[in-house]
Amino acid sequence: MKDSVPIALSSICLITCLSFAATTSGKPDVVDGENYPSGRIPQVIKNGKYPRTYFPNTEKLGKNEMRITAIGTGMPNQTPTNAAACFLVELGNGDVFLFDLGVGSTDRLSGLQLDYAKLDKVFASHLHTDHVGDLAALWVAGWLSGRYTPLHVYGPSGARPELGTKAHVDHIRAAWAWDVFARAGTLPNAGGELVAHEFDYAKTHVVYEENGVKITSFPAIHIMDGAVSFRLDWNGLSFVFGGDSAPNKWFMKEAKGADVVVHECFFSPEQWMRISGFPYKQAYWVTSVIHTPPEGFGKIMSQIKPRMAVAYHYWNHRDIEFEMHQAIRKTYDGPLAMAADMTVINLTKDHVEVRQVTFDPEAWPQGTSREWDTAPRGEPATDVMSDWLKAGAVKGMNPPPTQPLE
Ligand SMILES: [Zn+2]
Ligand SMILES: [Zn+2]
Repeated sequence: MKDSVPIALSSICLITCLSFAATTSGKPDVVDGENYPSGRIPQVIKNGKYPRTYFPNTEKLGKNEMRITAIGTGMPNQTPTNAAACFLVELGNGDVFLFDLGVGSTDRLSGLQLDYAKLDKVFASHLHTDHVGDLAALWVAGWLSGRYTPLHVYGPSGARPELGTKAHVDHIRAAWAWDVFARAGTLPNAGGELVAHEFDYAKTHVVYEENGVKITSFPAIHIMDGAVSFRLDWNGLSFVFGGDSAPNKWFMKEAKGADVVVHECFFSPEQWMRISGFPYKQAYWVTSVIHTPPEGFGKIMSQIKPRMAVAYHYWNHRDIEFEMHQAIRKTYDGPLAMAADMTVINLTKDHVEVRQVTFDPEAWPQGTSREWDTAPRGEPATDVMSDWLKAGAVKGMNPPPTQPLE
């Protein structure tokens, strides 16, 4: 009996692999004007009756609905369970926004098999790697996966110009010159552009307003000048995204009564000593001066009273999750989601649904989009390979073309 198990498993694998080969297409299907992975027909959810699990691309977002997915919820030092900070917001009007894009988050994002043509806006809370470390990864992966327009990064200024979002983005562009230059001419040019929209970190002001969506930035308190939080308002629904911050008066004001409020929930000093080996003095500074530990998170939410409070920025490890939850419950007894990577929240005026995403761990990367055929391209880079290097190619090894190249 023991021996029969692997045989059975390998036959399943063979069948699955064969069916992939038969059905996978690089081009998406178009359903109601939206790109979906080939073969997926999304269903309309009626009367708030959601399936218990969210399977990507199987549900059609309602016209008045917002879907918020915690893509990454962890720390600068990643674990297999937690990528770093990233929240995706999809709106019923078709708009899509990313709030932070920490290291590892683009891996998780790929599991949703989204239309990358729409993933062109990232709002950065601050410039720590666990909040923006995957910008270059999305910039290029999106370009390969259907985004033939620039990637826009909205982020705060800093205490000095070199500490602001514009300098950060300019240096990413410069650091990846080889990568982008090498793809010119093959991929449509505009997808290789990375555009910074730097705004004043110190003000409470609207930093984006289009298509009925308003995004407001306001100051956060996190080590030094240049950290912010965001509030998104659309169609009578509100989403507040706190990046890293100690509790502060701006958050208390702007998040008051909002629908879904995401705020960091860091470890207690004692937990951080245990996990990291920091002595108490440094552990207290990290957890309770530049961040917000669980009891602080609970007090914030008790005053804000959101329709759903969302805690993140810790590791969802079984040895610590219950402790975090208990500590929050000392100071807050309202609606609460302890966000793990791929926790998904559907929001309408009269319903909040919190579930977990189940995605295909062997999901294909997204292929090109419909715009591939018409998006303008420049000339391929020339004079970028020396003649002696070209002459080193060994002819006759790779098969010749079997289709016309023009
Ligand atoms: Zn952080
Ligand atoms: Zn930070």
